[in-house]
Amino acid sequence: MKGMLCCAFLMVYLSIQPLVTVQASVVDGNVIIDQPMHENLCALTFDDGPSAYTPQLLDMLAEYGIPATFFLLGKNAERYPALVRRIVAEGHEVGNHTYSHPNLRSIGPARKAEQLQRTDTILRGLGAKPIYIRPPYGSYDEYTVKIAEKLGASLVLWSLDSRDWKRLPDNYATLRSTRGTVYAPGTLRGVFLFHDIHARTVEDLPRIIRDLRAGGCQRFVTISDYLEGLIDPEPGLHMKRAGAPQPVVTSSTPANVLDSINLTEGAMRVYPAGTAPLPMGRASVPWQVEGTLEHSVDKPQTIDHDLHEESPSSVPVAAPAS
Ligand SMILES: [Zn+2]
Repeated sequence: MKGMLCCAFLMVYLSIQPLVTVQASVVDGNVIIDQPMHENLCALTFDDGPSAYTPQLLDMLAEYGIPATFFLLGKNAERYPALVRRIVAEGHEVGNHTYSHPNLRSIGPARKAEQLQRTDTILRGLGAKPIYIRPPYGSYDEYTVKIAEKLGASLVLWSLDSRDWKRLPDNYATLRSTRGTVYAPGTLRGVFLFHDIHARTVEDLPRIIRDLRAGGCQRFVTISDYLEGLIDPEPGLHMKRAGAPQPVVTSSTPANVLDSINLTEGAMRVYPAGTAPLPMGRASVPWQVEGTLEHSVDKPQTIDHDLHEESPSSVPVAAPAS
């Protein structure tokens, strides 16, 4: 009887979950850009903040009525807690970008878990619900994915990188995608990577919006709304329905996350950047072709903005050798 009752509750629980909500373990900007949508959605994402320039950005976004997604560093959230609350209060989405911006593939399992769980706790304490994690440099491994799942989050990369840490592009509508494509006029969409730790990026927001609209962006949305806008997201995204049980997130020590993850020997392996096998096919990498890999992703362990290349293409997923 007890079992039946439990089952009935579960059925009711599942039936009231929104079926349109999707959640993927890894949301690859390359994959989502190919998914059919009714309109060209564009998601502006700002990484590494909050910073002293974030208030100006928020003012401008409010003026335009545009929501954005902020992938925050835990240490900067601690420094600017009121800004995190403001980001949330103004309807933007907040994601986890680790505590101090390490290359997650270059640190051990305990530090990986600590970087992500500590930031998750900080952000939740400030009113955010971070269901997306963006690994610094787009660099992650299977263990990172498992930690994300424990925290109830998906990894999210990007489709187009403004490379604003280096210089601002002449035209944001002609940015190359992470696989080297330039979009035909009127077809632009995807997840765009910016950094609100650079004054020049923030000050350039009017041009960003103008260029992207001219290129085809019909509506600016958060990451969540972007994914909601996909008509048939499977199979490329490994979608899970939101009705699946949500992991319990606690504010306890990182060891809890670590202890609860059972990994094979392969998944525990740490690959030096650039040496991992390639489970996901990726095509051309324009900035590698241009010979700009002096910003080697295996070097920066702290956030050095001159070294701040965030390229998912140059740092492929590390998967256990089968
Ligand atoms: Zn970053």
